[in-house]
Amino acid sequence: MKKVALVFIAAVFLPSLVLAWLAVRSLRDQQFVIERQQSLLYQQVTDGLAKDAENVLAEMQHQFGQQVEALLAEDKTRTLPTSFNDRLRTNWSISEIGFVVTLEGNILCPTPYASPTARTFREQNSKFLCNSESAEVYWNASKLNNLGKNYSNSSQPEQQPQLGNNFLNLGQNSSSPVDYKNTLKSQGMRNVMPQQQASQQNESDSQLYSKVSASEAEFRQLVGDATEGTIARFVDNRLNVLVWYRPPGTPQMIFGSQLSLLRIKQELKTIIDHLEPALRDEIAVALLDDNARPVTTSREKFQTVWKRPFVATEVGEALPHWEIAVYLLDPAKMSQSARTLKLTLGLLIAVLVCAIGFGSLLIVTDLRRQLAVARKKTDFVSNVSHELKTPLTSIRMFSELLAEGRIADPVKQRSYLHIITAEAARLTRLINNVLDFSRMERGEKKYSIQKLDLLELITELAGNYRHHLEANHFQLNSSLPDAPVFVNGDRDALAQVIVNLLSNAEKYSAENKEVSIILDRKEEPLPYAEIQILDRGIGVPKGSEDKIFEQFYRAHDSLGSGIQGSGLGLTLARQIARAHGGDVINQSREGGGSCFTLRLPIIQE
Ligand code: ADP
Repeated sequence: MKKVALVFIAAVFLPSLVLAWLAVRSLRDQQFVIERQQSLLYQQVTDGLAKDAENVLAEMQHQFGQQVEALLAEDKTRTLPTSFNDRLRTNWSISEIGFVVTLEGNILCPTPYASPTARTFREQNSKFLCNSESAEVYWNASKLNNLGKNYSNSSQPEQQPQLGNNFLNLGQNSSSPVDYKNTLKSQGMRNVMPQQQASQQNESDSQLYSKVSASEAEFRQLVGDATEGTIARFVDNRLNVLVWYRPPGTPQMIFGSQLSLLRIKQELKTIIDHLEPALRDEIAVALLDDNARPVTTSREKFQTVWKRPFVATEVGEALPHWEIAVYLLDPAKMSQSARTLKLTLGLLIAVLVCAIGFGSLLIVTDLRRQLAVARKKTDFVSNVSHELKTPLTSIRMFSELLAEGRIADPVKQRSYLHIITAEAARLTRLINNVLDFSRMERGEKKYSIQKLDLLELITELAGNYRHHLEANHFQLNSSLPDAPVFVNGDRDALAQVIVNLLSNAEKYSAENKEVSIILDRKEEPLPYAEIQILDRGIGVPKGSEDKIFEQFYRAHDSLGSGIQGSGLGLTLARQIARAHGGDVINQSREGGGSCFTLRLPIIQE
């Protein structure tokens, strides 16, 4: 038993506890997992909007090329290079100023005297456009690679400007918050940890991980032999966005335009306005400029610490350090749902552990019961063998004496024959009990039910048994009614119950050899017959009153008491009685001894 329990604990209980413990541990990461899921979701939103913003700028670059081509087509007098600024601005309102510069570095347009804006533009850009000074510019990486290759053929020394890295792929998995942050750093990304918005981190690191970085380059270096492009640069802390185009017909001349930031902002506002309505209740989206100030937001009057978005994506090199940022409208909601999830999972685990504990208890109890039955079965085998042996020995001994003719006295002869008959009856009873029990165990016991008179049955059984009892110096008292008592039942089976009870009364009687059998009729609650078999014997020990009806159970051990038995008589008696709609019960008797009562429902004549 101990071994089985140990195996069970080692194979089932301990692993279950370890699993439960691991599950509880994993609960602690739930908050992070939820934040992570949310951040991935909203990162897709910001990535999408940033892409849209990039497309808007790409479209502007494309439009500019078309404008130049259109102006060239209508320029019959070939005066476009000098009048480009005015003509472009008339046709294309996005342009703040138009310029034309040759590859050699001559600025053909605007002239310094054109307007104050033109003068400022020239002051700020002439050195860069004339290639006499390299400036910090932001440029598209893939184009730059081309540029580097092509430009190496020119007279200028090869110079590979250091430009931005690729976008961070937030879909990549990193196993912990720390890994996640390190990944961000190693990829040179804007730090957009989900917790940022809730916890006020050190503000200085907000721009630390921008994927967009400036490169030192001259204008001609950037142009290379490409045909168009966009350049962004900060002049006096103000962002200038320049688009340029080199017409195939005049490759030595580069047409360009400084775009109006105001118009760019207006165009980008429409993107933010198109945020999915389903998301509007959960998040606010803002376009942040390079100083993390909101250019436009999806919710009017929304205020927050703009430098602490939940997630953000940079627009790209055309608008360096500008970001599409997402802010949670209710940051507490996320930790609330994490807490709820934690609680639910915690409860679930607790229920599971309890279920495992309870299941284990049931298994252990059942194991103990089965082991007890197994033990009782072993006892049963030795009891039955013993009980078979004793009558067989007597039968053999007395029949040999009689057969050899050594007993001449007819009284003795009769007495020996009585003993042989009684022992044979005992053997039959025992074998019947064992056979019936195994039939019941297999569910094969059949009853042939018919109307029978209990008075007649008991009179017959008592008559038969009286001889045997009196031969053994017993006194059998009977109290029977005058009228028949009819029940529906299997005659043999009910006879077996009564004989088993009589046999027990005899076996467990000791010195006081007085057995009584009473048949009575009771009316309450329903009419039933009551057969009581009483003795003045040793009685059923305390605590065994119910157990004596269990299979193989013997309250008086054969070895200790010297009383033989199989532990099946009462089990069968009760099962048969219950199959007839009645029962067998045991009551202790005042003055010592036992009283076993068989109750059966009566049928009305
Ligand atoms: P057994 O073959 O051992 O008699 P039973 O099922 O008939 O098996 O009885 C179960 C146990 O109940 C007996 O072992 C005995 O301890 C107890 N018992 C049964 N009848 C009596 C009785 N009349 N007086 C005292 N104890 C009894």
